[in-house]
Amino acid sequence: MTRRKLVVGNWKMHGSRPANAALLDAIAHARPFGCDVAVCPPFPFLSDAAVTLAGTDIRWGAQDCSAHEQGAFTGEVSAAMLAEFGCRYVIVGHSERRAMHGESDQLVADKAKAALARGVTPIVCVGETLAQRESGQTDSVVKRQLSVVIHTLAHCAGEIVVAYEPVWAIGTGLTATPEQAQSVHALLRAQLRAAAARADEMKILYGGSVKPDNAASLFGQPDIDGGLIGGASLKAADFVAICRAVS
Ligand code: PEP
Repeated sequence: MTRRKLVVGNWKMHGSRPANAALLDAIAHARPFGCDVAVCPPFPFLSDAAVTLAGTDIRWGAQDCSAHEQGAFTGEVSAAMLAEFGCRYVIVGHSERRAMHGESDQLVADKAKAALARGVTPIVCVGETLAQRESGQTDSVVKRQLSVVIHTLAHCAGEIVVAYEPVWAIGTGLTATPEQAQSVHALLRAQLRAAAARADEMKILYGGSVKPDNAASLFGQPDIDGGLIGGASLKAADFVAICRAVS
């Protein structure tokens, strides 16, 4: 099964209107890529991304959404609002949100469900901490995180994108070896196969200190279908090089 690869930039809480304009312009001008490409700016910059990227094949998305439809949830942004801004994707369950905002597996699953209900594809992040890896819990942690999502989404589970992001590799410069990453991706694929008829068509991205010089070896693995890119997505030359490495 050949799956088209996907590279997604997670800009986190970085950028400014002029810096973003330059970044988006550089990415748009580097097209075409032989893979799908998306960027996830902070919420206030979504409309700028929508305007700049309209008419290109580059998609945009958000870094989080509420599990709620609407209401008195100060500071939250609903999936319906993201859909209004043309978001194709929303990242849910990023380890920074799990760790700093106490997001549970169930909340992450509910956010994924809210996104799908509005036609926005959730990119569901799973991954183990260093302590969990060192104590041999990697497989059980990622399986538990994904199983709550599968159970909550039921027959819609095949509609998500999964991102395996070992917490110890995010923003640290440490990267899982292609073999380490492939082994977790194969495990996640097997779990998806047991739950979703389209599991072989589903994308499982790798994230964690992906750079131009390690992208090709990671993305060459059979179950790694692209990447979720943090730091390197803020530098146009690096992000473009990663997109090209995938193709
Ligand atoms: C991320 O935050 O999703 C990420 C993968 O970050 P980095 O590429 O900087 O490790």
